[in-house]
Amino acid sequence: MSKKKYKNDYRTKVVRQVNEDAVKAKKHLGQHFLNDENIAEKIADTLSFSGYDYVLEIGPGMGVLTKYLLEKSIEVHVVEIDSESVEYLQAHYLKLRERIHEQDFLKYDLTAIFGDKPFSVTGNFPYNISTQIVFKVLEMRNQIPEFSGMFQKEVAKRICEKEGSKAYGILSVLTQAFYEAEYLFTVPPTVFNPPPKVDSGVLRLTRKENYELPCNEKLFFRVVKTAFQQRRKTLRNSLKTLNLPGSLREDAIFGKRPEQLSTEDFISLTLKIQPYAVSNQ
Ligand code: SAH
Repeated sequence: MSKKKYKNDYRTKVVRQVNEDAVKAKKHLGQHFLNDENIAEKIADTLSFSGYDYVLEIGPGMGVLTKYLLEKSIEVHVVEIDSESVEYLQAHYLKLRERIHEQDFLKYDLTAIFGDKPFSVTGNFPYNISTQIVFKVLEMRNQIPEFSGMFQKEVAKRICEKEGSKAYGILSVLTQAFYEAEYLFTVPPTVFNPPPKVDSGVLRLTRKENYELPCNEKLFFRVVKTAFQQRRKTLRNSLKTLNLPGSLREDAIFGKRPEQLSTEDFISLTLKIQPYAVSNQ
């Protein structure tokens, strides 16, 4: 056997060993496994890990990011829907065993893990449920001081966008009402297996010091959603369904389109509407 041949054989064997129990990517679970260790480590470094004792990773898959989280001085929990990935994690991350929750993140009541204690959330997320992940985090904001992770680039950018831009929308306003949003870096499809069709983007959300809304929260969500459902129209037109008195609709703010309003503007708009709307909801 020539030296070269031997080398090739050896390589094949190693590859087979690595792949033997590897999880086969399932499209319906949005599985695109990250295979770049530097990027995994960079994502793990996006959180401060201070001011709370737990971090929750959504969708750990085979644990490429998890292993860097386990190096931090924090208690790591993971929630993973795929039983094959759970088996893999159980076999490879003994330290994690008790803290692997085989659950659907969207349906699982996280207080079953954390009670009322604060925790941060991170992950290379399943892109098919990105928006729903953000909405669940917003709902649980009282317990989530920090959030970071990877989405498809377009969604990550949209969350961080400011007024005046095309991508600015419901997700940007609602997130930025409670969190400072930072777009951190872009990740190309080539570092995933299988590669997704689009670029990915990593972001960080840091809860604002004062994240209590001064206005009625339900109404705020309703105003933002209703306004952006018809984003080309002025608020005077798009908010007609709220049945506001004509005198209020004379206010200059109603002559604007939703993408011209900052989060703070939406809050002051809600405060103006509140005396009329809350009573007739
Ligand atoms: N973090 C891993 C895997 C990313 S792929 C990596 O970077 O390689 C997305 C992961 O989310 C998959 O492991 C998938 O099984 C999991 N997932 C998909 N939907 C989920 C849900 N509703 N709840 C929890 N995990 C989910």
